[in-house]
Amino acid sequence: MSSLPQTMKAVVLAEPGRLVLEERPLPQIGPHEVLIRVGACAMCGSDLEAYLGIHPSVRRYPVVLGHEFAGTVVCKGERVRSYNVGDRICHTGSRTCGRCPACLAGDYMNCPERRGLGFAADGAYAEYVAALGDDPYSHSLPDALSMAQGALAQPFGIGYHAAVTRARAAAGDFVVVQGCGPIGLSAMMAAKLCGATVLSTDKLDYRLALARRLGADATVNVACEDPIPLVRQFTGRRGADIVIECVGGDQDETIAQACQMLRRGGRLVVVGSFARDAATVPIIKFKFGEMEMLGSQGFPEGYGPVLALLSSGKVDILPLMTHRVGLEGVPAAMEMLRRKDDGVVKVVINP
Ligand SMILES: [Zn+2]
Ligand SMILES: [Zn+2]
Repeated sequence: MSSLPQTMKAVVLAEPGRLVLEERPLPQIGPHEVLIRVGACAMCGSDLEAYLGIHPSVRRYPVVLGHEFAGTVVCKGERVRSYNVGDRICHTGSRTCGRCPACLAGDYMNCPERRGLGFAADGAYAEYVAALGDDPYSHSLPDALSMAQGALAQPFGIGYHAAVTRARAAAGDFVVVQGCGPIGLSAMMAAKLCGATVLSTDKLDYRLALARRLGADATVNVACEDPIPLVRQFTGRRGADIVIECVGGDQDETIAQACQMLRRGGRLVVVGSFARDAATVPIIKFKFGEMEMLGSQGFPEGYGPVLALLSSGKVDILPLMTHRVGLEGVPAAMEMLRRKDDGVVKVVINP
């Protein structure tokens, strides 16, 4: 422990719109926690929402963002069983109080004070982060994978859960993925691994080009072309078997468009977060077409299946990483994400 510094660099969201690089004391860990030296942390669309002051889980400032990260355990509390000092891990978990009856019984998921890292608890836009030691949302990082791959495994896991577990994409399916951000591209790659044919849509040409490079069979820029007749043409007028919505945000077009693209009995999987908490469903089309609509949240499968896929080399998620920055580069990178400048998809921070 004596080799650890007293302070660290961290990028603090002081208030919406203001990220500040600060020198801070190292986080103190409880007996049930680990201290992690952050190797890589990916910047997420929900970090951008927090920056804009519109994320429902970020209500306290200052806060350190960052929930998609990998690092090395440098210190552990005496009650931690899953990891040892020196272990490389991926983490997207939480902190808990360590004192309540649930925590004392080791039932950390039911701690009433459980707080998500990078949302209500300080996250990994920092040199060090404290985290729950025996957290189901953590996993050891295989030696063959880099810290950046470990960080990107988190958004890939969300796309994997949507395409494989929720959409149940299979060989022969025609799948439309709406949105070519990191999650949409991940869902597209996961659907391709299942043997499906995938059409990806977006309004940004550079993201559509990346989708094609990563395996999408076809792409449509929905800013200038109506995808509905195209889907009919591709499917012999039948319609898509599956649509995976990965756009969300402050718009109300994608759900209605999805219902127009789906075949009878088709499935719509909603991954995007809709800022207004509302979306229009063409309910007659939906009802007469006996369609299904499924929500998809996080990746309850955990990192296991995703890390196995990445280690096998069957999928390469590194092309999602368009930019790498140090902590000092985070404020400018966040502005770049906001403006979608410079071909940005995923920014990875190496603190
Ligand atoms: Zn994220
Ligand atoms: Zn507790």
